[in-house]
Order: sequence, then C-alpha cells, then structure tokens
Amino acid sequence: MFIELLDGLRCVNDHPQIPLVTAITKRDDRFVVEATIGCPTCRREYPIRRGTAWFGSAAQDDVTPSQAGPDDDDGATRIGAFLAVSDGMTIALVGGWAVHARALSEMAGLRAFAMNPQRAIVESERVGVVHSDNRLPFTDGSLRGVAIDESGWSIREMELASRALSSGGRMVAPASVAVPGDIEEIARDESVWIGEKRGALVALHRR
Ligand SMILES: [Zn+2]
Repeated sequence: MFIELLDGLRCVNDHPQIPLVTAITKRDDRFVVEATIGCPTCRREYPIRRGTAWFGSAAQDDVTPSQAGPDDDDGATRIGAFLAVSDGMTIALVGGWAVHARALSEMAGLRAFAMNPQRAIVESERVGVVHSDNRLPFTDGSLRGVAIDESGWSIREMELASRALSSGGRMVAPASVAVPGDIEEIARDESVWIGEKRGALVALHRR
C-alpha cells in the first residue's frame, strides 16, 4: 500500500471516525509491505500483509486470487464513464470492478482502491488493495465514486457505503441492489443503476 493511500483508510466499526495509527514493520521505499493498522477508538487492529490491507472477517489464506490478467481497457472506460471520473479524484472499485483499478487510474489520473478483488491486482502509487467484506473502510465523504459488486449488499450496507461518498459523488451498483436514501438514481439498465449522492442542505453563512 502506497503510504499516502493509508490516510484514506478508516475503522469499519460503528463509531465516529478518527485517523488510524499504523505500525510499519516492513516497507519498500514509500510502499508499506507489512504493518498493523490500529483504531485508537475501539482498539481493533487490521493487518497489512504483502501490501494488502485486511479489514474484513476473511482470513488472508481464504482468499487466493488468480494471477493478474491483462487489463481490459473497454471495461475500465465503461466504469469510468459510469462514475464520471476525472483527474485527481479517489474512487473505490469493489469485487468484479476492482480489476479495472490499474487501467482506470492510469487513464484518468485518479486514485483507486481495489476492494475485495477477484484476482490479483498489482498495486501502485495510485492503486491500493483492501479486503473488507461489504463495508467500505474509507473516510466519510472522501470518495468521488464507488462501484458496488454482486456480493449481496443489504440496504443497511449500502447506506453505510454511501457515507464514503462526497456530495455529488457517483455510485454504481447491480440493478438487484436497493438504492440508498441519500443517493439519487440517474440511470438504470437491466444490469446496473447509476446514482449521485445528494448534497447536504447547508445554511448559508458569512465568514
Ligand atoms: Zn474502531
């Protein structure tokens, strides 16, 4: 995990978010290879092993992605259009979408977290790999796009996932998954829907 990407990670337990503390045991230049990430609030610890951060219940040995295949530029272009990506943003691609993280990060000049990838993802300064069940381990409001996979996300899990989006951020999810209340559906076909996070209503004030 590129060290700057660690800043965007947060505890998945249900309490107010504060930055995590990382004890690094092995690094390769600016990449964290082996570490323990700790939550100062609930004391839960999450390992980084061989560069991948583990936030979920799955043991690392349970997940053995196959070898990395060639990136599919058409697929990356498609999800990039769904999420309306642009230079400098940070997104999360979950499950089957994660395979596009590398190509999309290079095409669009963005940062992508590849979450719960189904095959091996090569990390980079722009691509971090995390495993985390159906719970996004990212700072509230920090993502401009999230692509949700087919792994049976409940409405509660979707509502929590939408918290990671900033207002105006895009979410893509399977057509079978419910649209969270703070997401406005803007397009749908037989396989996916695309939604946009509604902006919070804020009082105007003078500084
Ligand atoms: Zn915690």
